[in-house]
Amino acid sequence: MTPSVSIFLEIKNISGTIFFERKFKQFIRKTKEGVEEGFPDPLLQIERQSALLKKTFSKLSTPVMPLIPLVVISNPNTVIKSNDSTLSNTILHAARVPFRINEILSSFPNEILHLKDMNRVKRALLKQNVPQAIDVFDRYSLKSNDILKGVECRQCGTFKMKKKNRRWRCDQCLYVDSIAYIEALKDFARLFGPSITNRQLREFCLISSTSVANKILSSLNCPFTGGTKGRVYDLSRLLDG
Ligand SMILES: [Zn+2]
Repeated sequence: MTPSVSIFLEIKNISGTIFFERKFKQFIRKTKEGVEEGFPDPLLQIERQSALLKKTFSKLSTPVMPLIPLVVISNPNTVIKSNDSTLSNTILHAARVPFRINEILSSFPNEILHLKDMNRVKRALLKQNVPQAIDVFDRYSLKSNDILKGVECRQCGTFKMKKKNRRWRCDQCLYVDSIAYIEALKDFARLFGPSITNRQLREFCLISSTSVANKILSSLNCPFTGGTKGRVYDLSRLLDG
């Protein structure tokens, strides 16, 4: 947010070829294997977010400033297609974001909000920014036993990565990876919430040693509460990135 314009980003990590079909307002992904599937339309999501932001501005009775939403496709190999060419200003690969932001900033040179109003808007937005907890267990009628335990191999997709010294190695295909567990921890946070203990980490990632689990947890540089025993780590930082 600048005094002249608010830019907000909706980031999507989707691979394959994606198609923004504007006649029926569909968002379709085609995988390498040629399978087509529909996803929630990010353009609808940003429309809803714009409406919410406008509401925040009007509640605070600040001057209304331009709101520019961008849908950012984080995977550089994803092919973006649409039957509406004007969308190329809204939907873009991550690498283009800095250039697009500069373009936007130079097209809105007039200051609309004073510092005082900006701070009020910021405070209001921070207050609203309560992370949305979606209970996937509830939504998909899952039990925690339905969740595959272990660390997934990025090469063969099995959950058989084992920690060997400073690295992780797949028992199935012998692929070696030093950060394989990060994705597992993100999955944990998305499924069970961002707090994790040593015991939970061992159970989820199938690690037998408490000290190995401790090393992993302290290497994350995540905030924690509690003493050495029963310490609870906050994984929120992993999901922000
Ligand atoms: Zn493997």
